[in-house]
Amino acid sequence: MAYTYDDQNIFAKILRGEIPNTTVRETEHTLAFRDIAPQAPEHILVIPKGTYVTADHFATEASDAEIADFWRTLGEITRELGVAADIGNGYRLIANSGIDGVQDVPHFHMHILAGRKLGPMLMRRD
Ligand code: AMP
Repeated sequence: MAYTYDDQNIFAKILRGEIPNTTVRETEHTLAFRDIAPQAPEHILVIPKGTYVTADHFATEASDAEIADFWRTLGEITRELGVAADIGNGYRLIANSGIDGVQDVPHFHMHILAGRKLGPMLMRRD
């Protein structure tokens, strides 16, 4: 089944400039901004500007240029924050996808969480 992109999702509105964001970095294909409800001292969302719903959608259908730009931008942010694991204390990446992944916003995004020891990877809540 093909993905259908909801252009009324909150990140689509951010990309169109309809609601504000705290931008960390912007490139031709990628936008990174601070999460509005941070769960760590550093909590940044990295999103492609293209209309991809999930990580697998992006990985399957984005161009090589979009994918390279996304990962390069993410890497640059970890260095800028001083948390890249060779120069700092590291970080965690999370890409919630779909129903079981409990994805709230249906525009692919990677969370970068850093700035404190983040604890166990998953908390069981069922
Ligand atoms: P997810 O559950 O992975 O879809 O995460 C969505 C994330 O988007 C959550 O961490 C929210 O706090 C964040 N978020 C929602 N609205 C905004 C907004 N207007 N600006 C920045 N982050 C937002």
